[in-house]
Amino acid sequence: MELRKEPLLTAAQIQKKVETLAGEISADYAGKELLLIAVLKGSLIFASDLMRRLTVPAGLEFIRARSYCQTRSRGCCEFLMLPERPVTGRHVLIIEDIVDTGITANSIVEYLAAQDPASLDICTLLDKPARRTTEIHPRYTGFAIENQFVVGYGMDYEEKGRNWPDIHVMK
Ligand code: 5GP
Repeated sequence: MELRKEPLLTAAQIQKKVETLAGEISADYAGKELLLIAVLKGSLIFASDLMRRLTVPAGLEFIRARSYCQTRSRGCCEFLMLPERPVTGRHVLIIEDIVDTGITANSIVEYLAAQDPASLDICTLLDKPARRTTEIHPRYTGFAIENQFVVGYGMDYEEKGRNWPDIHVMK
């Protein structure tokens, strides 16, 4: 795997953004109890950093989805892991590492919305708006990036690079 020498986003930039997002989320959900649903595997590190900076009570569940169609534009997802309990009546915030086409986020939103949560929103660290094929608009976005494949801070290339503290672009 070839990587650019300079990280696209340094650990310091990421941590500053996580703090800003946590501040906004804490203010918006003041007086409420949140349920974070981290989308595995890529959002694990982001979710754990974000969660520790929230000042509102926050529960944690996991969901794992995989796009299984040859042509991703068809938008099929299978769920490999689901939250343990229904999210009915809860204030749910889906935590994504990156929203690309939006197919994964869209499938997760459809699945959870059917359980009638009190509110349902998305917080993503990275967004590639140019690649979107669905009507998905995250309420919270860390960084909008160009159409490039990134690795690090939880995101992998064939299971490599997840533990890097910075985010790099793969050539
Ligand atoms: P979407 O369904 O929005 O097209 O894709 C979302 C998922 O694809 C992300 O949660 C992530 O797992 C993967 N993905 C999309 N773009 C990238 C990228 O640039 N780097 C990595 N490592 N994964 C990506």
